[in-house]
Amino acid sequence: MPDPSRILVIGAGFAGTHLVRALARLLPKEISVTLVSDESYTTFNPMLPEAVGASVFPEQVIVPVREMLPRDGPQQFIMGAVTALDRTKRELICRTLAGDIVLGYDHLVLAIGSRARLDLLPGMAGQALPLKTVGDAMHIRNTVLRRLARIELESNAALRRSLGHFIVIGGGFSGVEVAGELIDCLHSIRRYYPRVAADELKVTVLHGLGRLLPELSPRLAASALASLEKRGVRVRLETRAESMSAEGVRLAGGEIVIGQTVICTVGTSSNPLLERLGLPLHQGRVIVGGDMAVPNHPGLWAIGDCACVPNAFDGSHAPPTAQFAVREARVLAANLRDALAGKPTRPFRYRSRGMMASIGHRKGVAEVAGIALTGWPAWLVWRAYYLSQIPTRSRRWRIAFEWVLGMFYPPDITHLRFTRSHEMLADERRRQREHALETESAVATAR
Ligand SMILES: Cc1cc2nc3c(=O)[nH]c(=O)nc-3n(C[C@H](O)[C@H](O)[C@H](O)COP(=O)(O)OP(=O)(O)OC[C@H]3O[C@@H](n4cnc5c(N)ncnc54)[C@H](O)[C@@H]3O)c2cc1C
Repeated sequence: MPDPSRILVIGAGFAGTHLVRALARLLPKEISVTLVSDESYTTFNPMLPEAVGASVFPEQVIVPVREMLPRDGPQQFIMGAVTALDRTKRELICRTLAGDIVLGYDHLVLAIGSRARLDLLPGMAGQALPLKTVGDAMHIRNTVLRRLARIELESNAALRRSLGHFIVIGGGFSGVEVAGELIDCLHSIRRYYPRVAADELKVTVLHGLGRLLPELSPRLAASALASLEKRGVRVRLETRAESMSAEGVRLAGGEIVIGQTVICTVGTSSNPLLERLGLPLHQGRVIVGGDMAVPNHPGLWAIGDCACVPNAFDGSHAPPTAQFAVREARVLAANLRDALAGKPTRPFRYRSRGMMASIGHRKGVAEVAGIALTGWPAWLVWRAYYLSQIPTRSRRWRIAFEWVLGMFYPPDITHLRFTRSHEMLADERRRQREHALETESAVATAR
């Protein structure tokens, strides 16, 4: 007879960490709760565009999971990737730094999020820069800095223009946020690149629909559009990208928008683990009942971006947002407590409190509790909200301090490369060999 009190949660994103924290409050200490995740930190994805625009440092958008869990509770965190699941034996295999381990469970919660989709358009996998992880954000930021450094050294005017053109695909939240952050970042850091002219740097948004930010009211969407255009962003509505190449983006009508940097904020695909589990999916998300249990699989639950959760408030499916993931986690914690006590569970029911977007340095749009805000007040509300979500006080203070400093100084242009000493030595030896070969061939030609 297995111990009836082992809860295993896979995924330490918004959903998984909030669930484990809520369980720590609701469950007696005898019940073991284990959180397994392949990264040691949670990424505050809504702040990734700010990391791209160098408004915040990458370490400000992540929080170590171990810092988030209550220290005196029975919860355990294991860093490892779940690779397989045996639902009959109620066991999973987790690949850790110490090799594969088998973990048993009585209740298993899938909170594994989704992935960026890179096969949406031909050429996308090779050319587009997705924005889904903190690594993506750092890569885009470094690419932008490398482009500026290269423009300074190139003399071909067409090549300089192509290097300086940043194309953002998608005019939803992430696209608008990235475009706003990028244009402000380019304006502020150009002072460090004296041989790059202002008109050599451009940001273009390509958006398939008739207006930006379809999740917000038309008024706020128009305000975001006006703010972007005022700062020089070119927004092309009803414009569909068809394919990508090293040259740029080919549009549906055949036109090619020339630019070497394409940031793609559209398209998600399901986590490969979900596909391996063979559970019924709807649009790449596991189908769950109102209480977030997977039908016909006792002890299996799913929440967050990886789950298709019906919302009893309006009969819709909960959207894949952090706001909903956190609320789902709280309701599931209560449902797990009730299920363990043999009581009935309750359906997820939540009315969105609003939406916010930061659209550049100290600019935002927000709709909170029916009140529409734009510009600096919206941006302040946005930052205050995310600061309130940072789980530990020490980290909150550190981030608040950096944010205040960031209001008075230009963005950081450090292009950090983690080159290790033996890589430097190997590079040096390679250059010496190349130099020796060139000298040999020059001597041979002279003879
Ligand atoms: C650029 C961007 C901007 C966004 N802006 C907003 C916004 O402004 N407002 C908003 O509400 N939402 C926003 N979102 C959406 C929001 O980030 C997601 O809805 C939210 O992160 C979902 O939480 P989750 O816990 O379901 O998934 P995630 O946060 O993606 O977490 C999934 C976790 O599972 C782990 N994992 C995956 N597979 C495995 C495995 N096999 N084994 C172990 N661990 C695994 C991952 O490492 C990760 O820790 C944004 C998203 C992006 C990408």
